[in-house]
Amino acid sequence: MRSRALALPMAAVLALSACTGALSDTGSLLGRDTLRIGVKADQPGLGLRGPSGEFTGFDVDVALDIAERLGVEPADVEFVEVTSAEREEALREGRVDMVVATYSITPARKTEVTFAGPYYVAHQDILVRADERSIDDVRDLAGRRLCQGEGSNSATRVIGERGVAARLIEAPTYSECVTMLEEGEVDAVSTDDLILAGFLLRSRDAFRIVNAPFTDEKYGVGVAEGDLSGCEAVNRAITDMYQDGTAEALLRMWFGDTGLDLVTSVPQFEGCS
Ligand code: GLU
Repeated sequence: MRSRALALPMAAVLALSACTGALSDTGSLLGRDTLRIGVKADQPGLGLRGPSGEFTGFDVDVALDIAERLGVEPADVEFVEVTSAEREEALREGRVDMVVATYSITPARKTEVTFAGPYYVAHQDILVRADERSIDDVRDLAGRRLCQGEGSNSATRVIGERGVAARLIEAPTYSECVTMLEEGEVDAVSTDDLILAGFLLRSRDAFRIVNAPFTDEKYGVGVAEGDLSGCEAVNRAITDMYQDGTAEALLRMWFGDTGLDLVTSVPQFEGCS
């Protein structure tokens, strides 16, 4: 295994300005000297921007690893914050070359974005206040105030796909949902277990995860629609990342003390299309 990936969180990668002006063209991400990669900025353990502008987390390290395998050094990677609602547009407009941002591959999104991966399969679960006793399962969200980050797919999983009549409240990001949960403005936040675990690790006494996972969230690497050669190169990079042990090391480093069951074998790819 290469040691670079493990050293990255320590050598926090500085974000360059997100406002560099000209849009990159929307051709293939292959052959670039630099890459702009969209990541989350408010999700601990996945994509988090620190006080001096550096981004850290599993998605950030996966992005750097893929970039390096595509021939782009960490110093030539520019991280750009994307919220859930901004991901498709950021790719479409060429503001980013790639999105690695807890981005589930869904049939609807596949009409706008080409997805490599998945590089991991998370599962949707539910975060509640530690003293909440009446929510133990997705069905218990009926009639309760449920928060999701705008543009996320998590409420659809509950309300649209399972027909559970939760009262949806949206916030711009999941960190704002978690603040609303803490302040009693909502009753639950339901999204991917990796996201919830990151927030739980930050405030162990305030919350609990109900531990009743009910979906498979295939985390894809979004690339510009139709960039099939770029997508295939990213898939090769993900395969190599698993085969040389980097993926397992990163999963253990970021989520090893969450108690989650980490799957360390390469996920079944969706195929670039
Ligand atoms: N993975 C889900 C999604 O892509 C929820 C998390 C998020 O919005 O980033 O919709």
